Amino acid sequence: MNTIIQKFGGTSLASEESRERVVSKIINKHNQGYNVVVTVSAIGRKGNPYSTDSLIDLINTNTVSYRDKDLLLSCGEIISAVVLSSTLNEKGYKSIVYTGYQAGIVTDDNFGNADIIEINPEKLIKGLDKGYIVIVAGFQGANRNGEITTLGRGGSDITAVALGKALNSQWVEIYTDVDGIMTADPNIVPDAKVLENMCYSEVYQLAEDGAKVIHPKAVAIAQESKIPIRILNTFSENEGTKVETLERMYYSGNNTMQEDKIITAITYKKGRVQVILDLDNNENKTEKLMEELTSNNVSIDLINFFIDKKVFTIDNEDVLKLKKIMDSGDYSYKIVKNCCKLSAIGYKMRGVPGVMARIVKALLKENIKILQSSDSHNTIWCLIEEKDTDKAINALHKEFKLYQ
Ligand code: ASP
Ligand code: MG
Repeated sequence: MNTIIQKFGGTSLASEESRERVVSKIINKHNQGYNVVVTVSAIGRKGNPYSTDSLIDLINTNTVSYRDKDLLLSCGEIISAVVLSSTLNEKGYKSIVYTGYQAGIVTDDNFGNADIIEINPEKLIKGLDKGYIVIVAGFQGANRNGEITTLGRGGSDITAVALGKALNSQWVEIYTDVDGIMTADPNIVPDAKVLENMCYSEVYQLAEDGAKVIHPKAVAIAQESKIPIRILNTFSENEGTKVETLERMYYSGNNTMQEDKIITAITYKKGRVQVILDLDNNENKTEKLMEELTSNNVSIDLINFFIDKKVFTIDNEDVLKLKKIMDSGDYSYKIVKNCCKLSAIGYKMRGVPGVMARIVKALLKENIKILQSSDSHNTIWCLIEEKDTDKAINALHKEFKLYQ
């Protein structure tokens, strides 16, 4: 029998009414004859008593070990899994709940941000064989010693896709409270549109660059095992966004609508800081600086190195660390705070001339300064001042006709 995975986020489980919607999505697939495995996030957001943020607020994170913190955080998803199971049982559907550990999810030892090493799904398969709807608490597993670990914020998406891989599922459904992945943030661009389909590499980039649609690691696992993902809305019957291989996009003919679209979506990350260093031909100093940034765990981005100048960006949160390193090493540098990294993403831009020219033109027309830029096979990044964010996104959305 075909297996599918359904993942429901915290807002989908926050009230009795919303759980009714969740249950109807599950029952629907169950009644169609699928083996259904459901994974869930903790209930609600900050402020809701059993959300991950509320659980963190219960403890002093400076005095509790990473191990014990994970024990606490794993409870949020266990609670929502059992609450959902109870709702299903009330309606006469048999379900069985597993924690990540019980589900056979084995991770490394990195408490708080563990990676899944393998999944031993025997128990899950037994549950399915008995006709149960199987519910797995998301966001967690256990290391080889049976110590409970969590997978990092937003990690239930990873649970869903990893289960899909382990159970060889047809596809994975990620349910949230929006109609799918959009061309841009609809709070910024009123005519942003839901995308019918996207390829893995675009969604991965979107997730990495700030769009909170899905955890990038979940996309990476799906890409590697070629499992299609559907991003769907718990509260509507819309088709959502299908994420799959390019081959399948073309094969299914779903790609024709966006045929002439060079850019698929735009996203952004605020809170970036640009660092400009005068390092005239001093490569020893450059090497030393790179080492110091690494040992202080400062991640750098948009890296442009020239003979006489090194430019890169860091996160707002790392500014104090950077200043300490710079001042103790006697570097001559300048920082530009409150920057925003814009990402224009689209797999079709590879090798096509004129994309950057259009971006420059659209931004200059709005008097937006480009502080720095960079590109890859599917993305052009521009660093701009944070205050220009909304204007810039709207300008690019219009220039590339993403509203169509
Ligand atoms: N509840 C966890 C979090 O808030 C995991 C998730 O929602 O996917 O990060
Ligand atoms: Mg999430």
